Amino acid sequence: MFVRKARNRYPTLTAKNAVKVGHPFPLSSTGMQFEIVTIFPGLFTGIFENGVVQRAQTNGLIEVNLHDLRAFTHDRHRTVDDRPFGGGEGMVLKPEPLAEALASLGIQPKAERYRAFQEDTESAPDPAARTRVILLSAQGRPFAQALARELSQLDRLVLLCGRYEGVDERINQLYCDMELSIGDYVLSGGELAAAIVVDATMRLIPGVLGNEASSEFESFGVADAEIDTDVEGVPRSQYGAGGLLDYPHFTRPAEFGGISTPEVLLNGDHKQIRLWRREQQLRKTLANRPDLLEHAALSREDRKLLDRILQETSEIDPRAFF
Ligand code: SAM
Repeated sequence: MFVRKARNRYPTLTAKNAVKVGHPFPLSSTGMQFEIVTIFPGLFTGIFENGVVQRAQTNGLIEVNLHDLRAFTHDRHRTVDDRPFGGGEGMVLKPEPLAEALASLGIQPKAERYRAFQEDTESAPDPAARTRVILLSAQGRPFAQALARELSQLDRLVLLCGRYEGVDERINQLYCDMELSIGDYVLSGGELAAAIVVDATMRLIPGVLGNEASSEFESFGVADAEIDTDVEGVPRSQYGAGGLLDYPHFTRPAEFGGISTPEVLLNGDHKQIRLWRREQQLRKTLANRPDLLEHAALSREDRKLLDRILQETSEIDPRAFF
């Protein structure tokens, strides 16, 4: 992880001095690059230094670079915000430091990038074509697994974290390919949202997860009718998750808190385990996210199972759900 701190306050963390300032793992110059522009780079301490995301950096599959917005100010107070035109509450992130931060990353206004993209030839692919600039915003389009999958195909993702009342709209209009919201609630800043986008995206890059296929079998995994056998000896559902939620997982001890692990998971019958897991996926999706069923890839067997589950649930007093 690379951290560009504000001038004269902290040493700039580079590949050369990373070890000297105690950077916990080697920097790499390969893999997908995530560039995060923020006024609080310190908020990311720890988030990218553990688990899968750290391993992905160590293995050179991704690179996470933090850019302190205050490094792109020119006044004594390193001002990044100002009052909103038209009055009203709070402050707004000024456009100049953000534009300068983007320029320092070689990001042109999108009109120029789109032109370069159109003129692009196969012999000279333009890196701009595989870069996206995203503004984290409660007003953005909803972030979901399908979009994470698209983003994971890119070479470079630039994430702008808003604060206060948000970011001057001209930055959005001039530079941002997309406004992205992580949910229908308002956060104090875009940093947590950026961390979520990095995490969900990077784990879909081939090689990041131990078993390449494993993200296909999680909640929201794409449909894959080809997968009807065991994968590395592990029984999966009949298909990839196919847009459904994941099935419940159990581990040792077999009995806990008076609840036993379902017998089917202990008997080693892979076919039965697959069928049980598929049924659980359907049950959980129906209970928690029935909206997903509209677009899920369902087989004839799935539909039969769903009918049976629906029949069962219609026999239950609906008050039992609350
Ligand atoms: N005035 C804004 C509104 O009502 O939509 C809220 C601004 S919020 C306090 C400050 C910053 O947090 C935003 O500029 C954005 O970067 C980030 N943020 C807040 N909620 C978010 C969400 N649901 N998804 C992504 N980013 C969010």
